[in-house]
Amino acid sequence: MSELILGIDLGTTNSAVGVVDSGFPILLANEDGRRITPSAVWIGQDGTIEVGAKALRRRALEPNRVVTSIKRLMGRRASEVEENFPVAVAAGGDGLPRVLGLSPEAISAEILREMKRIAEWRMGGEITKAVITVPAYFHDAQRAATKRAGELAGLEVVRILNEPTAAALAYGLDKLDDQARVAVYDLGGGTFDLSILEMQDGVFQVLATHGDTRLGGDDLDALILAHVVERAGLGEIDATARIRLMAEAERVKLALSESEQTVFRVPFYDGSRSVEAAITREELEKLAAPWIAKTLRLCRQALADAVLKPEDLSAVVIVGGSTRMPAVRRAVAELFGREPDISQHPDEAIALGATIQGGVLGGALRQVILLDVTPLSLGIETFGGLMNVLIPRNTTIPCKAGEMFTNAADGQAAMRVRVLQGEREMAKDNWELGNFDVPFAPSPKGQARVGVQFKIDENGILEALARDVATGIDTVIRIESAAVNVDDAAVETMVSESVEHAFSDMAERVFTEAKMKAEELLPAVEAVLDQGLAEDAEREEIESAATAVRNALAGGAANPLKAAVQRLDIATEALAARLVEQAMDAALDRQLSAK
Ligand code: AMP
Repeated sequence: MSELILGIDLGTTNSAVGVVDSGFPILLANEDGRRITPSAVWIGQDGTIEVGAKALRRRALEPNRVVTSIKRLMGRRASEVEENFPVAVAAGGDGLPRVLGLSPEAISAEILREMKRIAEWRMGGEITKAVITVPAYFHDAQRAATKRAGELAGLEVVRILNEPTAAALAYGLDKLDDQARVAVYDLGGGTFDLSILEMQDGVFQVLATHGDTRLGGDDLDALILAHVVERAGLGEIDATARIRLMAEAERVKLALSESEQTVFRVPFYDGSRSVEAAITREELEKLAAPWIAKTLRLCRQALADAVLKPEDLSAVVIVGGSTRMPAVRRAVAELFGREPDISQHPDEAIALGATIQGGVLGGALRQVILLDVTPLSLGIETFGGLMNVLIPRNTTIPCKAGEMFTNAADGQAAMRVRVLQGEREMAKDNWELGNFDVPFAPSPKGQARVGVQFKIDENGILEALARDVATGIDTVIRIESAAVNVDDAAVETMVSESVEHAFSDMAERVFTEAKMKAEELLPAVEAVLDQGLAEDAEREEIESAATAVRNALAGGAANPLKAAVQRLDIATEALAARLVEQAMDAALDRQLSAK
């Protein structure tokens, strides 16, 4: 039974929660029907708390009791807090910041508690575990603070996940090969970062990350407002009016992602004055150009840190609401020399990735590790044109196997290694993937020693290595992907042919092996008989057996040849033993006389 683990994107501006339900990662909508909840917390005078859109709505009346962007304070000391933080920040006795008397963890915990509540309400049961995302640049104290916030919200934080990694998971980039590199361009409301990830042993590693924790869509809203204030000559604006005008600036910005022009319109923004100004996408893009250029500079820095060029990347992913702007997409495409992948919802990709990670950890999504196997046997050709299998078919990769080979002829000074693939007994019926020559010192037959090893790595690349044992010199060839990536139909043909020809193939192997033995035995037998060492009866049987072998060789049938060779072997056994004995006696005599 799998266990429900929430995936939570705890964002600076917005947060989202998801869970794997019936095998599918889904994000869960709040009561407003929205899968994105503002990361805003209203802390009432009496300690009552509201989170999300409800909290934001209180801003008009109690701007100082609505906390946003609390993520910026996580794991920081009060002395490190930026000046223009949206609400007043005090220092606690421990030097850590307090907002309306609460620690940043306690406020983040309220957002997480809300995420937990939405999930439990949607799923109809208690859920106590979560994966929570953090920016890749978060240091230990910031990660620890995030974990503590989860615990305060009643969650066991089973994993703190880097946001770019979560985005890459959502885009399915974990299916890329090892060493694949991905850039994640994340431009949200308040922050920007560019991370370069590399897949290593099935896990994303952050190679480089560069960003600006004060660069986001909010800045563009402020630029739009400044532009309108100047053009319409609005003059002084108080804090409450500013909130209303900023909201309109954002609306205008969003509208210009869809259409070419719109009107900035806020009636009675300060109770008496109104504003109405037309604005085009072109004007917005002019305002946005330096803002976009800043993100591109950070991208170049990250690439330089990772010592990579844009063309070294396998994919560029964009996340964060601000990447919906056409001008941002164009700039990213131009810098990286490729269209960014926009298949995922930019606001939801991180939460979705966290959800997928939660699903994997909880067992609801099986992490499918596809263990590749060799579709066909791999081997080399040996004496007599036989296939010598080193790695049988269906062996799980990575794998390696080897064997020792020797020379077939006297004085031979090189050996050709033919790398073969297939199920047939004879080399000629299999496919040759490659070949190479292994030189060695000329030596008598059977004296040279060449070790041949096949190694297939996780990418299916076959490396065939031959080592001359006497010198230790290696000869290596690499055969890319042919060892594993074989067309299914071709594999089927090869296997069915091997079944079809099983009997004749086997007979051919038996015949070849017997023939090699016969070719070795016959000249040796003739030489011995010439020495006249055999007794008459013995000689007769040996000659008759040798004739039978010659006839069987000419006959070309496997089993008669095998039987004839065996008979010749037996007929010469006693003689061979005597020869060995005599040779030993002679050697002993030589030793004794030498003394
Ligand atoms: P995030 O922090 O990822 O939720 O991104 C929020 C930021 O994205 C805010 O500044 C939004 O104004 C901005 N945003 C959302 N949708 C769009 C859009 N269609 N065009 C431009 N900016 C957008």
